[in-house]
Amino acid sequence: MILLLFVVVTILLYYLLAGRNQHQSLEEDSSKTCLNCGTPFMEGDSLCRACKESLKKQCSKCGRMVNYGWNYCPYCETGFLGDRKT
Ligand SMILES: [Zn+2]
Ligand SMILES: [Zn+2]
Repeated sequence: MILLLFVVVTILLYYLLAGRNQHQSLEEDSSKTCLNCGTPFMEGDSLCRACKESLKKQCSKCGRMVNYGWNYCPYCETGFLGDRKT
C-alpha cells in the first residue's frame, strides 16, 4: 500500500515538473511570435504563416536580418528604438 502511494506521488511529481518545463519553454519562445497575430514562427521564417506579416527587418547598420520586436541588433548592437516598420 505504501509502495502504491509512492508510485502515485512520483507520477504526480513527474507531471507537475513536466508541465512546468513546458510552460518555461513556451515563455522563452514568446519573443518568436508574429507581432500582428501572435502566431509562433520558426527560426528562418521571414513571413508569418498565418497572416503573411513580415517577421524580419534589415539592420540599418550591418545589413543583417533581425526579428521585428527586437530593440537592438544582436550583431552590431545598433538600437532600433523608435524604428517602426513601413
Ligand atoms: Zn501573423
Ligand atoms: Zn546590425
